[in-house]
Amino acid sequence: MIKQKYIDLLRVTPGKTIQLKDYDTGWAQTNGLKALGKDKIKEQANEILEKNLADLTQVQQLLYADDRYSLLIVFQAMDAAGKDGTIKHVMSGVNPQGCQVYSFKKPTAEELDHNFLWRFMKNLPERGRIGIFNRSYYEDVLVVKVHPELLTNLPDGKKDKTFWKNRYEDINAFERHLERNGTVILKFFLNVSKKTQKKRFMERLDRPEKNWKFSAADLAERAHWNDYMEVYEEAINATSTEWAPWYIIPADHKWATRALVADIITSTLRELDLKFPQVSEAQLQLLAQAREELGNE
Ligand code: AMP
Ligand code: MG
Repeated sequence: MIKQKYIDLLRVTPGKTIQLKDYDTGWAQTNGLKALGKDKIKEQANEILEKNLADLTQVQQLLYADDRYSLLIVFQAMDAAGKDGTIKHVMSGVNPQGCQVYSFKKPTAEELDHNFLWRFMKNLPERGRIGIFNRSYYEDVLVVKVHPELLTNLPDGKKDKTFWKNRYEDINAFERHLERNGTVILKFFLNVSKKTQKKRFMERLDRPEKNWKFSAADLAERAHWNDYMEVYEEAINATSTEWAPWYIIPADHKWATRALVADIITSTLRELDLKFPQVSEAQLQLLAQAREELGNE
């Protein structure tokens, strides 16, 4: 397990205003970690990941059996920050029956004809399950805020000065509603540097097996890097709540990202009062009867 004091550094305190430039995109958030040295940290991170994956398999089973809570995990990030790889690695030990991953793209015409939360509402995890949102309703205050021309279909009067503030408010209320109904929410912003994004884009261009991952649109969005950092900051500051915390995860090193995300998910589930359902006296009697019947066959 990663020490709580390191995790606390990544968890945004509700009410506090953060600036992304204060968060290290690399592997060391503190001098204490820096002193350990990168190789040591990397080795430990891999051990932590392995251990957490084993624990996650167990605790997911318990979540499923307990059947009262669900876990919603939101991943947001710039392109090439490692969302897909993190989801693949962290969820590798999890029973597919108890886990659903949804990747949200540009909304369809049908989706645009509804309120912005509609398509997410339809894909929330059931009790006992883990639901992963690879991009989410946060796109509606991120990409849409960077490109307000995407806001079609709305009556003009609705697009006034309070529009974005209202959306943050709606998101907070939506998440509050989910939490009150037994959904635990974790939100991860994978914080990659512009430099690392360039390196990963280059790899996509240079390596034939990675070519498919490259999209010209990604480059166009990179040109808006500063705008994106601004809207991310605004969104994180407006929607960090006790019931749905944001974690700012360093994403320049995949091993660090994966170890941290796995650790936070596992420890969050461990802290719930999960238990296997109790078998009642009446059920115990039925079991005894069934055993006898089978035995006498
Ligand atoms: P990817 O996750 O790389 O497959 O890309 C999905 C794309 O869909 C990204 O460029 C997102 O910005 C875009 N997207 C997701 N949600 C929305 C939205 N509500 N409005 C516009 N674009 C979106
Ligand atoms: Mg992409």
